[in-house]
Amino acid sequence: MFVKILPPEVRRKIAAGEVIDAPVDVVKELMENSLDAKSTRIEIEIVKGGKRLIRVKDNGIGIHPEDIEKVVLSGATSKIEKETDLLNVETYGFRGEALYSISSVSKFRLRSRFYQEKEGREIEVEGGTLKSVRRVGMDIGTEVEVYDLFFNLPARKKFLRKEDTERRRITELVKEYAIANPEVDFLLFSEGKETLNLKKKDPKGRIEEIFNSSFEEETAEKEGIKVKAFISRNQKRGKYYLFVNSRPVYNKNLKEYLKKTFGYKTIVVLFIDIPPFLVDFNVHPKKKEVKFLKERKIYELIRALSSRKHPILDIPSLHQKGEIYKPLYEIVGQLNETFILVSDGNYLYFIDQHLLDERINYEKNGNEEIACRVSVKAGENLTSEKIKKLIKEWQNLENPHVCPHGRPIYYKLPLKEIYEKLGRNFK
Ligand code: ADP
Ligand code: MG
Repeated sequence: MFVKILPPEVRRKIAAGEVIDAPVDVVKELMENSLDAKSTRIEIEIVKGGKRLIRVKDNGIGIHPEDIEKVVLSGATSKIEKETDLLNVETYGFRGEALYSISSVSKFRLRSRFYQEKEGREIEVEGGTLKSVRRVGMDIGTEVEVYDLFFNLPARKKFLRKEDTERRRITELVKEYAIANPEVDFLLFSEGKETLNLKKKDPKGRIEEIFNSSFEEETAEKEGIKVKAFISRNQKRGKYYLFVNSRPVYNKNLKEYLKKTFGYKTIVVLFIDIPPFLVDFNVHPKKKEVKFLKERKIYELIRALSSRKHPILDIPSLHQKGEIYKPLYEIVGQLNETFILVSDGNYLYFIDQHLLDERINYEKNGNEEIACRVSVKAGENLTSEKIKKLIKEWQNLENPHVCPHGRPIYYKLPLKEIYEKLGRNFK
């Protein structure tokens, strides 16, 4: 009586909304398809923050001419065949819903040339209706154009964010995928201007280019789970990126843990490689939120990474015979009754005396409050004995980089830079 079965056009629009809310979602799905197709170069173009146009062009394997009309159907995928494949997906996509959804709520054009073919095929779909199929001359690869997202869903269109916001989200997203896939060239054109041009690089080089800072690399492995962190300290603002099996994901608890462990002024890019059956991407329709089946193991590995005994200051523990023992660091002094200055021959360290002592006391008795209370304060004059003792203890800390609340303990300046600024050669 009251229950009606919705007509298919309505159902497909509703279903599309689960995958696609905004231009950034379209860019994500199209980039993932390009990466799944083994592209080595992906070009993205957006107009009006993607609201007017999103174009993604790749040089991947392309789509077979016989499949070209199928790819916009619901559940059309070349990536899995049976249910058990779901436990082992190694591609970004596998639901076969993205092109179906996107083409249901936009004016959509896809052209593709399969790598074994001499020419390409092009289809046009408008609001879910196939308008045309034709042959086209083109290079191997695929190009998708999405015009006027939600043109047939005015209510949704009205709730899209401002162009600037969409543009920012898309740029961030492209950077994330570029970090996850450093062997691929990524180009982004926004409102007719080239805004990103990232050429294939090694993983560290790609990250350094994107954040325009130098990074350190740490890895740890246990029971088939591998974590690798790229770390850059003393930034204006901390940022924490998480990639699980090359997929950028969010996990709130893990992010908080990274903040606390590496400090809130640190950029951390964390890669977790884990057997697919130990993670669940399906908790979120956009596969963004991730759940780990062995979460504790991951925390243990990250802890191991952060406490890696990296001599910050190299004190040689083994000496060659005949060599005179000489500590490789030099205590320069105390500054403004707040900082201890030391040098290891490569860097000049400004160490916050309170934060350092706080960390030392915290690692001794595990209580943040007590550690804060009993530690030397800023404004206290320290004897050279006290300074020596603090610096010695610094070497043996499990986490010598951040205080118990996540503030960085020190800031370091490369001596090389100081020499160069003064027109001298550094060693
Ligand atoms: P899924 O990625 O989940 O398989 P999509 O709707 O995103 O579903 O894509 C459907 C199919 O279209 C893919 O499985 C793939 O075979 C093909 N396809 C889509 N984009 C590309 C591309 N850029 N290059 C090659 N094939 C593609
Ligand atoms: Mg896909």
